[in-house]
Amino acid sequence: ETITVQELANRMAERGVEVVKTLMKLGVMATINQTIDADTAELVIEEFGHKIKRVTAADVEIGMRGEDDEEGSLKPRPPVVTIMGHVDHGKTSLLDALRSTDVAGREAGGITQHIGAYQVTVESGDKVTFIDTPGHAAFTEMRSRGANVTDIVILVVAADDGIMEQTVEAINHAKAAEVPIIVAINKIDRPDSDPNRVKTELLQHELVVEDMGGDILAIEVSAKERTNLDKLIEAILLQSELLELGANPDRAAQGVVIEAKLERGRGPVATVLVQRGTLKIGDIFVSGSEWGRVRAMINEHGKSIEEAGPALPVEVLGLNGAPLAGDDFIVVEHEARAREIAEFRGQTKREKEMAASGRGTLEQMLDKIKEGEASELPVVIKSDVQGSLEAIVSSLEKLGTDEVKTRILHAGVGGVNESDTTLARSTGAMIIAFNVRANPQARDMARRDAVDIRYYSIIYNVVDDIKAAMSGMLSPTQ
Ligand code: GDP
Repeated sequence: ETITVQELANRMAERGVEVVKTLMKLGVMATINQTIDADTAELVIEEFGHKIKRVTAADVEIGMRGEDDEEGSLKPRPPVVTIMGHVDHGKTSLLDALRSTDVAGREAGGITQHIGAYQVTVESGDKVTFIDTPGHAAFTEMRSRGANVTDIVILVVAADDGIMEQTVEAINHAKAAEVPIIVAINKIDRPDSDPNRVKTELLQHELVVEDMGGDILAIEVSAKERTNLDKLIEAILLQSELLELGANPDRAAQGVVIEAKLERGRGPVATVLVQRGTLKIGDIFVSGSEWGRVRAMINEHGKSIEEAGPALPVEVLGLNGAPLAGDDFIVVEHEARAREIAEFRGQTKREKEMAASGRGTLEQMLDKIKEGEASELPVVIKSDVQGSLEAIVSSLEKLGTDEVKTRILHAGVGGVNESDTTLARSTGAMIIAFNVRANPQARDMARRDAVDIRYYSIIYNVVDDIKAAMSGMLSPTQ
């Protein structure tokens, strides 16, 4: 841990030259821009007669988030919805169609801009917020950064195609996140569409729709013809009522970054989804290891706004650097505090990155199992053929003891892809690749994020390794 002489002076509210002089007295020659270690800094602080306060990560996080909201302060808030499904099943078309149901936007008449999320106001006056990056990659990427933004997942399934590989991936990602699913059976305008086949196929994934006696809402729609969009919205509002979503709008704002980029002429720009409180112009905030002051807020119609309450996505200008999607966004009381936290986080982030490069997520999971903190070993299984996949799944399901069970997050035929890797990273799972390889992107990601992909060609060896893992005794691959 180090600090520059200038920063130390700032934090003590002393002049830089005085700190340099004091350092000299202690026998340390340093200029204002040089860094000194924590022990030397402590000596200087004592010389000035100030109190030493070592800040831990927990102090920072608790201090900045403030108290939890009391039950009575919560007001109903709109749901936040993510659309997932197989490629070409109509995710983008459905997002566009839903956007056009916005009555507020029609009145405002602005030009629609892509800012990563948008909110619609429907005929009844209710509001729904949609995350505008369809697919589970973004969803899980954000979740792996600790951001749970989605209240409801809409699973789009084309009625002429049925459940496909990425449909299953999406189902498993949503289940892993414990987010309720509404099924949108799309393309019902097509002559070869067969919604009932989709409903039957859903059964295999433990999604039982209402007509079949279950509690999963399924709406037959056509994004192209805009059929039954009102029914889909109704289902979202119904589901959101069951979730009793609430937030306190009367406090300093906290939210999540949905998207961030550097724009020429505008500097770093982030789309922020406010989760509680109300964000205002002039607010000082920390986001990841960046900070700033809200200079302007712009909505998806390109209009400047002064305030943003819960579940409203807005573009924020005034950051000092670009944060990452999934980073938090927290308003703090003053600039000194924002600087301090951002700097502290920048440091711990670097430390964490160093630590992560040596230790995989699986290792951390195994530690938890060994210490009795976890009772499930999460796994993702990919295999060349359905037969071996089923054989592996059933042998692993038999392995459970009272203390530890395997939790199969996803099992599919095909090579290991990016979706498998993000799912594994966000859950601490290991990936079992049976007679298949990982594609280059997945391999790079796994290396970067220390996700354990293990390759097998004999089922017996899979079982053996999982047994070892369940007793916390598996040796690392690296
Ligand atoms: P995504 O990959 O899931 O985002 O799918 P897109 O929204 O890009 O749609 C894929 C293709 O299906 C496009 O050619 C769309 O025009 C078409 N499509 C989407 N929804 C419908 C629909 O309701 N009916 C019909 N007939 N075609 C649709």
